[in-house]
Amino acid sequence: MGVKRFVTVADYYIRTLGGRALRLPVGGWGSCPNRGPSREGGCLYCDARGSGTDILQMDLPIEAQIAGYVRTGKRYVLYFQPYTATHGDWAPVAGAVEAGLGHPQIVGLAIGTRPDCLDPRAWDWLEGLHRRTHLELEMGLQTASDATLAFLNRGHTAADFAAAARRAGALGLRVVAHVILGLPGEGEAEGRATAAFLNGLPIHGVKVHPLHIMKSSPMAALYGIGRMAEGGERFSAPGAPDLAVLTRERYISLLSAFLEDLREDIVLYRLTGSRRSTDFLGPRWLREKTKNLNRIRAALKEKGIEL
Ligand code: SF4
Repeated sequence: MGVKRFVTVADYYIRTLGGRALRLPVGGWGSCPNRGPSREGGCLYCDARGSGTDILQMDLPIEAQIAGYVRTGKRYVLYFQPYTATHGDWAPVAGAVEAGLGHPQIVGLAIGTRPDCLDPRAWDWLEGLHRRTHLELEMGLQTASDATLAFLNRGHTAADFAAAARRAGALGLRVVAHVILGLPGEGEAEGRATAAFLNGLPIHGVKVHPLHIMKSSPMAALYGIGRMAEGGERFSAPGAPDLAVLTRERYISLLSAFLEDLREDIVLYRLTGSRRSTDFLGPRWLREKTKNLNRIRAALKEKGIEL
C-alpha cells in the first residue's frame, strides 16, 4: 500500500502566502436564510451563534475584533465565519471586509457562505476580491446525501453545492467544503460517498469535523439531549435516525475512511473541532484539541495517510 500525503492549511499558507499565516475569525454581520420565516429553525446541528467559534467577539466593530486578536509579527487570513456572509443585505459584511483588508497584518480572506446564497452580485463581489487578495470561499456541504441534507434542514441539495462549486471553479476561486462526519444515520460508507462526490468537483480544500451537540441547537431539542455527553451514548427521536454520540475512536475510523477516498491534492483545513463554551454539550473529548490531533495523526499514519 502506497503512502498518501495531504497538505494541511498551515503548510499551504507557507507555500502560497510566503510564510506562516493564521486564521482570524470575525463575525457580527450577515444573516442566514435557514433562520428566516420560510425555513424555520435553522440547520439541525447549528447553535444560536450561527456556527461561529467560542472566541468571537461579535458585538465589537471589526477593528476592535482584529486588534483584540493580532500579535506582533504575525500574519492573518481574516475569516468571516458565522452565518452566511452573502445572504440578505450583506453591505455591512462588504464594509467589514474593506476595513479588514486595510489592516497591515491581514494577508487574505476566507468568506463563509452557502450554495444557495450566491446571486450574480455576490459572484461579482467575490471575483473582485479574488483579484485583489488571497480569497477562500467556505461553503457548507456537510454530506453528499440528499436524504441527510433534508433531515438536517439544510435547505439545499448536493446538486446545488456542485453547481456553486463548479461556478466558483470556473472563476478560479478556492472553494473550501465543510463536511460533518457521524451525522445521524451516517457511517463510513456515507463518508466515502461524500469524499467521492467532492473528488468530482473543483474543490481546493476541506474542513472536516465530528458531529458535536450544542445545547441551543434544534438537534439537542429533537433528541432530548440535556446533559454533557461522553461519547458512545445513543439517542432516539420519532421518525429520525438514531443519533450515536461519537467516541474519539469512532470519529478516527470515520475520518480515516473519508481521507482514504479523498483526492490527495485537496488541502486539509481542519480535521477535528474543539468547543468550550457553556453551550457545548459534547462529546466531551472534543475539548482536548492537542490530544485529539496527536491521536488522529498517529492513527492516520498507521493507515498510510501522512499530513
Ligand atoms: S449552519 Fe449556517 S445556514 Fe445552517 S442555520 Fe447555522 S448559520 Fe444558518
